[in-house]
Amino acid sequence: MPVPNIIAIDGPAASGKSTLGKRLADALGYLFFDTGVMYRAVTWAALQRGIPIEDEAEVTRLAETAQIDVRPPSRDDGRACDVLVDGVDCTWETRRPEVDANVSPVSAYPGVRRALAAQQRRIGLRGRVVMVGRDIGTVVLPEADLKIYLDASPEERARRRYREILGRGGQANYEEILAGVRRRDEIDSTRAVAPLRPAEDAIILDSDCLNADEVFARVEALCR
Ligand code: C5P
Repeated sequence: MPVPNIIAIDGPAASGKSTLGKRLADALGYLFFDTGVMYRAVTWAALQRGIPIEDEAEVTRLAETAQIDVRPPSRDDGRACDVLVDGVDCTWETRRPEVDANVSPVSAYPGVRRALAAQQRRIGLRGRVVMVGRDIGTVVLPEADLKIYLDASPEERARRRYREILGRGGQANYEEILAGVRRRDEIDSTRAVAPLRPAEDAIILDSDCLNADEVFARVEALCR
């Protein structure tokens, strides 16, 4: 079997998609594209510009007009890529708790999804890409050659996020993180457009019982 040209990795927040996707892309010499950063960039820009998150028309206009760039990392500070909105580097700002708290409502707006998915599809169709998100195998690139759906329990995902924040020297409350993970799961999987769900032809992996190395080994074996 030839190595798949387009690889889609979907799954809920903090299931390990980005870690897996980055490692796989590096191993194959492919582009790694984490689509969540685009939804985060729009959310950050809306908060920054004082656009109320519940103003669907304004947030949609922002998604349609803002110049969102995702580029290879320019700095060695742990980032997987640079994220820029209209030329301003907002890579770490898009990871802030207020973005976490507002990104799911923003990404439920159909016009926002239309604008961002069109850009993602154009990049994905060039091939030699590992694209990570919620709807890559179902909506953005249904023709992907390999589709992985990476799952894990909310408790395990909240534990990982908690450790990640402490590891960066930050402060965190496990119960709050768990509530946030559950809230995002609920919004992401019940929205009308492109809800989070595995594609029918996706391979489902549960990372509760597999560590990052084991997940990577399984997916790499599927590729080779
Ligand atoms: O993957 P990450 O947690 O960074 O994604 C942030 C948010 O962006 C998700 O909670 C989800 O609401 C949204 N998202 C999406 N579709 C994608 C990628 C992310 O709706 N393809």
